[in-house]
Amino acid sequence: MAIDFEVEPEFQKQVDWVQKLATEEIEPLDHFMRSGRSKDGKRLDADGWNAIRAYIKDLQQRVKDQGLWGFHLGPDLGGPGLGQVKLCLLNEILGRTRMGPTIFGCQAPDTGNMELIAHNGTEEQKKKYLEPLLSGEMHSAYSMTEPHAGEPGEFKCSAVRDGDEWVINGEKWFTSNGAGADFLIVMAVTAPEKPLLERASMFIVERNTPGVEIVRNVHGIGTPLWENYDTSGGRGGHAYIHYNNVRIPADALLGAEGAGFVGSQTRLSGGRVHHAMRAVGVCAKSLDMACERALSRRAKGELLSDLQMVQADLADSYIQLKQFRLHVLYTAWLIDKTGSYTREIRKEIASIKISAAKVNHDIIYRAIHLHGALGMSNETELGDMWMSAPQMGIMDGTTEVHKANLAKLMLRDYEASDDLFPTYHLPKLIEKAQTKFEKVIDDYLAA
Ligand SMILES: Cc1cc2nc3c(=O)[nH]c(=O)nc-3n(C[C@H](O)[C@H](O)[C@H](O)COP(=O)(O)OP(=O)(O)OC[C@H]3O[C@@H](n4cnc5c(N)ncnc54)[C@H](O)[C@@H]3O)c2cc1C
Repeated sequence: MAIDFEVEPEFQKQVDWVQKLATEEIEPLDHFMRSGRSKDGKRLDADGWNAIRAYIKDLQQRVKDQGLWGFHLGPDLGGPGLGQVKLCLLNEILGRTRMGPTIFGCQAPDTGNMELIAHNGTEEQKKKYLEPLLSGEMHSAYSMTEPHAGEPGEFKCSAVRDGDEWVINGEKWFTSNGAGADFLIVMAVTAPEKPLLERASMFIVERNTPGVEIVRNVHGIGTPLWENYDTSGGRGGHAYIHYNNVRIPADALLGAEGAGFVGSQTRLSGGRVHHAMRAVGVCAKSLDMACERALSRRAKGELLSDLQMVQADLADSYIQLKQFRLHVLYTAWLIDKTGSYTREIRKEIASIKISAAKVNHDIIYRAIHLHGALGMSNETELGDMWMSAPQMGIMDGTTEVHKANLAKLMLRDYEASDDLFPTYHLPKLIEKAQTKFEKVIDDYLAA
């Protein structure tokens, strides 16, 4: 009997260390970054930001000294090789923060791109791009979605071979951190006539290659539109990029020619699980807020926590969170056990990707609602958290696409009935059982 909900004491010490760092250092850093101002209300100047950057480097060094830098990576890539279940426990904590992933060297989209290069890159590519990515000296972006379509079958951005070079032409959209990245991994159609899974290839394109044009740095709902026109290259934002006759050397191809869509699954599957792990943390934090508020706020002479409809909401959130968390942990456990993204695992990954959006939506909505006007204000983190719910349902594939895949994977375990009525039709089952028990009764009476 191997099911055990405890971790070894040694690892529990690491979890406690991460929890302490998150509470004492990372959350205050988040709050400071949110304002970007000193106590007298003045915006930080360049020196001020340099001081903050040095502080971040210092925190990153503490994480390295603790052996937790890039904790999602295996020892072959310089990480601790914790496995997915342990990753869950750490990602849940970081999910409660904004800067946590950066402090621990496991921020998207760099993490997924590390996996991509590690699995598909040549030795030269690993040296040139993977090593600086792992150490945090370089940043990257993943450029796949196009403005006219998020569906691979519709992609138009192309790469054509010309002597020793590839020439990329097309548009990409929502390339997260694209404006500030050192290099972009671009998915481009290389063989439009081939079946979908052989049609596209991936390329490593350095950001400053002539022809890479950041048209706008698109931000999420709530950010003023004019900020999209600042394409100067800070981190954050989702770049809208034109690739205008971008010439790159032949060896910029990442993985085999035509293997782009298949290769991208390495990146997306892992990323989806990590998003789900962090979603557990976001939901838990909003539920903590709801519980504190329920115990503090009065209405009609009673505490909110004494009102049955509030109690019902809190109970529903608790149950949804526990179920979601267990499902994420189960998926992580399956990955650890199997070591690859089998059909069984893809089924669970699709499920938790779908539930991440739903559970985030329900739990955060209830927390906001319980906070009344305060919940609608920008004076708590609930507004930012609320944005994570619809985002979860869109990024890395929409909920509908995952539901369709999940249903297909589920149905592979079933067969159609070859009879007019289903196999579980009672008249048929009872007749079969009567035949079986006729013999049982006869044997008993004969004995
Ligand atoms: C925060 C965030 C970060 C992102 N980062 C990146 C990134 O770094 N790099 C990158 O390349 N992309 C990125 N994306 C883009 C993301 O991958 C796409 O938004 C996603 O794949 C959906 O594509 P779309 O936006 O074109 O939506 P569409 O494909 O146009 O879908 C819109 C809606 O149509 C319906 N729909 C679509 N397909 C189906 C279907 N098969 N069945 C039923 N209904 C359907 C659904 O209601 C769906 O929500 C990011 C997106 C977000 C929100």
